[in-house]
Amino acid sequence: MLRKNDLDAFIDYLQDSSGLNSGNAQEIVFPETEQEALDYFKEASQNKIPLTISGAGTGIVGGRIPWGGTILSTEGLKKIIDIEKFKDKPGGTALIEPGVSVEQLCEEAAKYGLIYLPDPTERNAYIGGTVAANASGAKGFKYGSTRWHILGLHVILPTGQLLNIQRGEGTIKNKLHIPIKNGIALSCSLPAYSLPKVKNTAGYHIFPGSDLIDLFIGSEGTLGMVSKIKVTLGELPQQDFTSVIFFKIQAQALEFVLKLKERTYQSRRQKKINDIDAACIEYFDEYALDILRGKYRQIAVGQKAAVYFSQDVFDEQGMNIMEEYAGFIDSLKIKDNQIWFSSSERNKELINAMRYDLPVLINERVKENGFSKISTDISVSDYNFPAMFEFYERRLRNTSIPFCVFGHIGENHLHVNLMPENERDFLKGKNLYLEFIQEAVRLGGTVSAEHGIGKLKREYLKIMLGVKGIHEMAVIKQTIDPDLILNQGTIFEESVFRPL
Ligand SMILES: Cc1cc2nc3c(=O)[nH]c(=O)nc-3n(C[C@H](O)[C@H](O)[C@H](O)COP(=O)(O)OP(=O)(O)OC[C@H]3O[C@@H](n4cnc5c(N)ncnc54)[C@H](O)[C@@H]3O)c2cc1C
Repeated sequence: MLRKNDLDAFIDYLQDSSGLNSGNAQEIVFPETEQEALDYFKEASQNKIPLTISGAGTGIVGGRIPWGGTILSTEGLKKIIDIEKFKDKPGGTALIEPGVSVEQLCEEAAKYGLIYLPDPTERNAYIGGTVAANASGAKGFKYGSTRWHILGLHVILPTGQLLNIQRGEGTIKNKLHIPIKNGIALSCSLPAYSLPKVKNTAGYHIFPGSDLIDLFIGSEGTLGMVSKIKVTLGELPQQDFTSVIFFKIQAQALEFVLKLKERTYQSRRQKKINDIDAACIEYFDEYALDILRGKYRQIAVGQKAAVYFSQDVFDEQGMNIMEEYAGFIDSLKIKDNQIWFSSSERNKELINAMRYDLPVLINERVKENGFSKISTDISVSDYNFPAMFEFYERRLRNTSIPFCVFGHIGENHLHVNLMPENERDFLKGKNLYLEFIQEAVRLGGTVSAEHGIGKLKREYLKIMLGVKGIHEMAVIKQTIDPDLILNQGTIFEESVFRPL
């Protein structure tokens, strides 16, 4: 196994996409097999060496940034071990190593007529990193988060044991109980907190009746290293019906979203195959459109909002779906000149590029400003979304900080991006962010729907779960990682740990 201890070898691994600059380490190791990773974990455990697991570094909450010790990079673990296409039903499975990127898995799966459905926007992310973050993609409105698609995991525990966990084989009863060897088990009580019943990745996912595998998914590498992953794959759709509708009045965009969601829920309830069933509903406010216009001149001036939506279309559905959408859009009196359709490859590319480019353009702008962006990852229930949206509007109306709002409105999960240009605005932005968090928690929502807590959002998790909830999580962490060597500083401040 390659090991390097000169700063030049790991300087890039001291960062991720969060802009946080606090990383330091003494060594980096690059296992190329699960056994090499396991051996290193045993060495780190014996010598109590702090260890931080590194994926592709696309995380935006500082999770992989090391605070001392060794970095274990998963980039050498990039084998797609097996892809199986079901013979008797659509879809299949893949068995992969954690350093396989989203792009690599999607390309390989496509050769079998299959697709990896969570598909986060950042395709350089490693699947191991997306499991650790419980990441979600644009099509989360239909396909949910990574958790929904994980069938099995190998997890290397901080104490150097390898767990093989298959979904359905480890239902949690009234306590956590993980047998490890010779009759020894890791055991502790369960947290009493309830997690928000919305799209969520914040807080250890464990309660009576939950599956042991779900404790590790979304745990941001604080409980173990995911060293092998079995995922479900869907059937590759023949087409992807995609459209963007631009609105000169923002309220009409929100009305459109509501109607599209209602129609989708209705067809799902009635199990209609040839009907509207949006996979993705995304929102762009006028300022997001201004940023996009810098690159895509085709976006007309004066639009107050846009809604992007798409649906996977299979052969047997074909024209029916297009006709259903045409009738639906017509019934809402939306004019042809407001709509972009994926009627040609060129149009489709343009629409998708627009969707994928926005976070990248924002990040470029933020880099120029020289101050980190402040970006929310809040989600609330359908019922509470109008109140949350109104709160955003009210608080943003008079701010001097440049901002834009975009994201997964289908799941009531918008990213408010504040892009401060000076220290004063940065501090004001942090306060504004705190107000958004407090309001989301008041409305029963989450402080992180998909990006995780990492090192940047620990104080917000405390608001969501309370000090008691954080201590309940810390008990689980200490049970599994008694020397607290793994991913130090991620999710937990050191002060929350107490002798067990
Ligand atoms: C432009 C852009 C767009 C993005 N879009 C999305 C999006 O649509 N949806 C979304 O959810 N996120 C998105 N993200 C965030 C990011 O891509 C995800 O959080 C992703 O899951 C991080 O994967 P990674 O491999 O880069 O992990 P890293 O950043 O390297 O690490 C993230 C965390 O996972 C841990 N980790 C990594 N590998 C393992 C492993 N094998 N076992 C255990 N722990 C591990 C690390 O220690 C760290 O805590 C976006 C980021 C960018 C920059």
